[in-house]
Amino acid sequence: MAKKPIIADSSVMISLTKVKKVYPGGHTALDNVNLEIRRGEFVFVLGHSGAGKSTFLKLILREEVATSGRVVVGGRDLSRIRQRDIPYLRRGLGVVFQDFRLIPSMTAFENVAFAMRVTNIAEREIKKRVPYVLNLVGLAGKARNYPAELSGGEQQRVALARALVHSPPIIIADEPTGNIDPELSVEIMELLKAINMVGTTVVVVTHEHDLAQRFSERIITIDHGAVVADDQTKGGGAF
Ligand code: ADP
Repeated sequence: MAKKPIIADSSVMISLTKVKKVYPGGHTALDNVNLEIRRGEFVFVLGHSGAGKSTFLKLILREEVATSGRVVVGGRDLSRIRQRDIPYLRRGLGVVFQDFRLIPSMTAFENVAFAMRVTNIAEREIKKRVPYVLNLVGLAGKARNYPAELSGGEQQRVALARALVHSPPIIIADEPTGNIDPELSVEIMELLKAINMVGTTVVVVTHEHDLAQRFSERIITIDHGAVVADDQTKGGGAF
């Protein structure tokens, strides 16, 4: 039996309290970061290159550990999480990586199915679930295509389908417009918004100020490792 994700659907999905991250070598990437992302929010984390966005992502995925302060995701204090529970934490965080991270030798179907197979989900369930999520992202007709046969936007939607396969309470998109044509960025943002509308918390990490202004309801701005602004915007109306 596949173990359930360990993330609880708590009212605060992500919280950082007085978080400091100093990398080996002494560089301080984040310093005294305090923020709270609540269930159902659609939030942009905005910052220039080097601001600390990737470090923020790595902390909540537990790829890095805070030097001090507290990182809590879905009610889990990540400084206390057991090593063997980390894969289950990550399963509760659907991440769409900037470079998509698809396996070139697998079709769209297989790429999504693979994420389920590694968690020992029954083949019968996979055969139902994969077409469902591919359909959700508008790729029902591309299940048999390999990544090289898909456009950048389509590859990204396969990555999104894979992120959605375990019905995670949180979806994180890392620079979602970084590797696709500008006109397709509207499409992916609309998909993320639709996912948010059904209750999933969405966090978009980007350096693109205009995108954040246009699509977000809340923009957390990071600069030189600190939260310098946390604004509610009217951008949600763009959908
Ligand atoms: P962003 O994703 O916003 O570009 P990062 O979180 O990658 O920012 O980086 C924040 C700062 O931390 C940068 O100055 C970067 O050079 C530094 N940094 C990131 N990763 C490491 C690392 N593994 N070791 C040392 N310094 C790092």
